[in-house]
Amino acid sequence: MQDSPQTEDPEPPGPLEASAVATPDASFGSSYEIRVPLPSLNPPRPKLTPARFPRPASYRPRFVNSPHSQAFRLRHYPEASQSDWNDWRWQQRHRVKSVHDLERLLTLSPEEKAAIERHAGPLPFGITPYYASLLDPEDNTQALRRTVVPVLEEYTTSAGEALDPLGEDATSPVPGLVHRYPDRVLFLVTGLCAVYCRYCTRARLVGASGEGSLKKHQLEAALAYIESTPTIRDVLLSGGDPLSLDDERLDWLLGRLRRIPHVEFLRIGTKNPAVLPQRITPRLTRLLKKYHPLWMSIHFIHPDELTPEVAEACGRLADAGIPLGSQTVLLKGVNDDIPTQKRLMQGLLKIRVKPYYLYQCDPIAGSAHFRTSVEKGLEIIQGLRGHTTGYAVPTFVVDAPGGGGKIPLFPDPVAGRSGDDLLLRNYAGNLYRYPDPGGALGCGPSSPQDPCVSA
Ligand code: SF4
Repeated sequence: MQDSPQTEDPEPPGPLEASAVATPDASFGSSYEIRVPLPSLNPPRPKLTPARFPRPASYRPRFVNSPHSQAFRLRHYPEASQSDWNDWRWQQRHRVKSVHDLERLLTLSPEEKAAIERHAGPLPFGITPYYASLLDPEDNTQALRRTVVPVLEEYTTSAGEALDPLGEDATSPVPGLVHRYPDRVLFLVTGLCAVYCRYCTRARLVGASGEGSLKKHQLEAALAYIESTPTIRDVLLSGGDPLSLDDERLDWLLGRLRRIPHVEFLRIGTKNPAVLPQRITPRLTRLLKKYHPLWMSIHFIHPDELTPEVAEACGRLADAGIPLGSQTVLLKGVNDDIPTQKRLMQGLLKIRVKPYYLYQCDPIAGSAHFRTSVEKGLEIIQGLRGHTTGYAVPTFVVDAPGGGGKIPLFPDPVAGRSGDDLLLRNYAGNLYRYPDPGGALGCGPSSPQDPCVSA
């Protein structure tokens, strides 16, 4: 087991011992007052005064650890200390990337084993030890396990599938940028992810060529394009996972973007808070705070991802004033039922993440085993709308193949017309009339009674 480097993230230390309390001194900065404890029926509480002690060089941040992940660490990574486990760099370095490593943790099916061994090219196999702790060691049909452990179906391309189904490469003015909508760009800053999702839209790119990030000259070319295109007001950093970049590179990149006068709004699309929550250090949140308005879209798939560690990570981001939205891909056998989606969306609200998009799975090559019908997505939205808090209902979208952009789909509540009255169906399936003189909604030829035509 490798040693991880010491990190420098300062966090408020815990309360001082009651007997030695730092007190300010105008001439000398600080001094220490020794208190002699006196018997008292109501002993004073220890003061929560910020410490003025220098931090030891080995100081590393505290991070919540669920009993489950602690037990997993002790069983499978006994050489790793809790500090190692809480260090995102340790997690990145110890990603599970081979059959041999994975067989230490899970009982692999012959199909899983064959699929991993057959793999070559982009979208490699990789899982952080933290996320591996959430996988069922025996059940290869478990939702989370299906999303990150390859299976042989990945190698079968079905009708309508493509390597680049959204036509991103055709709308890329310079490497790393996708400019599809006039006022915003997608900036693919790295091909590295903490965990590789088997349904990734950018399977053709991520993890390719040794998981490299864009080179400095490529980043400069992309920045020059943004600088010279005044219509761009919104930049979405994606990849790969932008939080795979270290703090220094991220700081540099965000600083450069923030200095472009017409860029009003920065966004980061990431899965790290779900698969590598240790990445959300106090140092990172302080860095991100400098670049507001900055929003974050976090990729969540299933309620089993909502652990105490993930709640801590999202809480830190929310406390830094970063509005958080979720993006979820609808996946067959993983999250394609109403109870699972309701648990996920309601759980996200509890950790201060607003459900934003539910995506129809893109037809990437080898995705047939993950794709549901579009009706399934509408059925799920119908099962959420009105049945839970409005904030918990995401927008269901199909990203149009060929580069048409996101097209939202909604269950249609318009049942037709009766004279001037518009007939609307509520969440429980009951019909209601709304007096709507002169309106045309509900008068279409597909309207059930078509009263407008007969009137
Ligand atoms: S984290 Fe995002 S970019 Fe990376 S593999 Fe998963 S879906 Fe693809």
